[in-house]
Amino acid sequence: MGHSDIEERLRREVVVVCSQDGVCVARDGQAQRLLELAIGDSFVDCVDPGSRAKLAALLERAQSGPVESWELCVSVRGAPTTFTFDAERSDEGVVMVGSAVRTAQTDAVASYQRSMADLADLHRETARQKAELARLNLELSESIDGLKSLHAELDEKNDTLRRSADVKARLVANVSHEFRTPINSILGLSRLLLDRADGDLSDEQAVQVGFIRTSAETLRALIDDILDLSKLEAGKVSLRPRPFSVKELMSALRGTMRALPRAEQVELVVEDARDIPDITNDDGKIAQILRNLVSNALKFTPQGRVEVSARLTDAHVIFEVSDTGIGIPSELHDTIFEDFTQVDGELQRKVKGSGLGLAVSRRLASMVGGSITVASQPGRGSVFTLTVPRVHEEAAQMQALESRAKALDPRRAPVLVVEDDRQTMFLYEKYLAQAGFQVIPARTVDDARARLQTLRPAAIVLDVMLEAETSWKFLSELKERPETRDIPVMVVTVVDSSQKARALGADEFWLKPIDPERIRRKLSEMARRGPVSVLIVDDDATSRYLVRRLLEDTPYLLYEASGLDEAIALAREKLPRVILLDFVLGDATAFDVIDDLKAHPATRNIPVIIQTAKTLDAVERERLTRDATAILSKQSLSRELAITRIREALETSGIRSLGDGHAS
Ligand code: ADP
Repeated sequence: MGHSDIEERLRREVVVVCSQDGVCVARDGQAQRLLELAIGDSFVDCVDPGSRAKLAALLERAQSGPVESWELCVSVRGAPTTFTFDAERSDEGVVMVGSAVRTAQTDAVASYQRSMADLADLHRETARQKAELARLNLELSESIDGLKSLHAELDEKNDTLRRSADVKARLVANVSHEFRTPINSILGLSRLLLDRADGDLSDEQAVQVGFIRTSAETLRALIDDILDLSKLEAGKVSLRPRPFSVKELMSALRGTMRALPRAEQVELVVEDARDIPDITNDDGKIAQILRNLVSNALKFTPQGRVEVSARLTDAHVIFEVSDTGIGIPSELHDTIFEDFTQVDGELQRKVKGSGLGLAVSRRLASMVGGSITVASQPGRGSVFTLTVPRVHEEAAQMQALESRAKALDPRRAPVLVVEDDRQTMFLYEKYLAQAGFQVIPARTVDDARARLQTLRPAAIVLDVMLEAETSWKFLSELKERPETRDIPVMVVTVVDSSQKARALGADEFWLKPIDPERIRRKLSEMARRGPVSVLIVDDDATSRYLVRRLLEDTPYLLYEASGLDEAIALAREKLPRVILLDFVLGDATAFDVIDDLKAHPATRNIPVIIQTAKTLDAVERERLTRDATAILSKQSLSRELAITRIREALETSGIRSLGDGHAS
């Protein structure tokens, strides 16, 4: 509805003619209807008392000329109404022509007009914002394009950087190695000269050779540091956490540090740490860090004392190396840990060093799960604090994994993983657990042999390059022994030696790094290929069905026999790994089956689990305890119990056949 339509509907044309004293002398029909005004009525009565003075003033004004847009409040059938009109004097009286609009409606119109104006404003604002948005959008899409190309550029730079970092690491490692040999020769030869092995030296010559020797020593220390750093950066340093005694670490430190050169007035005190219990972390790396800190302390302490202490908190050991030396200005506390940084100073110029020791130490500290901090003031000495966890996280995870592997989970097929790298082991566990396998970890070939005495895994994952050995011999051993021959073995290694692996009998050969998804798929396939077969012997079809249901979803391959002859035939043909045997079989009993099995070498060692609903008498029980591996009562048979008994039977059969060299 348009603005003017509304106004039109609200407008009421009204004509009233009044005498000077406000008496109506004429009016049109509209006025008569709206104002209920008759001729001779007082118009004044129609007007609100508040407006009456205004009416009198108007009638007065109209005498002297026309009046425009005069407003009065009148009452139209009780509703307050605004009467807006023009007035003019005529012979009959004052003629008022105007419109009556309900006061409430006047407000409505006004507020409607305001709303319209607001709306128009809003519209304009929206249009403006829309334009702004379009502009921003354009800018954004330009920025995105920019970002994309920046990203691509960064990727490229990253690649180049990575490549050059690789090249640098290799170069540094190679060059440093190349340097080592001649430097060692120089050291050896200068030693010979100084020892006067080939005749005397003049004093001057001795001094000169001494200089040669010190310079060569400095150079060797520098190269050792560079090598350490490049190995750390290339991730070539591996962590070897193990339980060790802090007390022994401290006493070894005392021994090595005592031999270091130090100023005459400096006392070196290495605390006993007698009351600190063993911790599980990489002792080699911790010792290397401490040696570094102590040798620094000795270098930069012209007099006073260098002290090493160790104390325990809940989860950490805190080592402190404090000295009364020259100290380090606080603004350099961070920079000294960067590569090749040294604090300029008089003493600095005299002592040897590469500026790499602390950089290496900090990296080592982070490897052992710890950190190094420094507190120091020039002239007042320094305290370097090394905090390390009492049990390295990796070791803790490994312990947890090992203890999980101690209890076999009957719902999972065990996979023996022979692998020395913990991280890889965790990966195997993560992925194989998801696929329904239980990882049995072995870090060495001996570990693996020990586990095989009590366990027959569904498969073996075999890393070849172990820490101190290769596992080739173990592989051929596995494939030669009848009791382990059919366990599928997948060989995983860093060097391509698939031919050798296959020649020794490996079922699979993979190069590292492992692809977890592929390993999972392969293992599932292999576990299916060589399943453990179980023969169920029962004359009652319902009982066989029940056992079948109990063993659903297990890796076991099930055969069924309903009577004595069928059981014997299947046992000979399939050579099941376990037989679940009902005690009463029609006319026969379990003893008949057992007698037959024992009579034949091929079936003699198959473990038999007796299942029975019958209460056995003493004689029967005694015989069965001798001849059967386990007795299961049908009443209390559960899936858990059945699987556990089968697994135990498999294990004892493994031990029995391994018995010629190992157990029993
Ligand atoms: P460097 O081989 O030069 O000792 P580091 O990385 O071990 O290299 O140490 C870096 C620098 O930090 C040293 O050169 C020395 O300036 C300063 N610094 C390290 N330890 C101490 C200390 N205990 N007292 C004073 N200054 C030290």
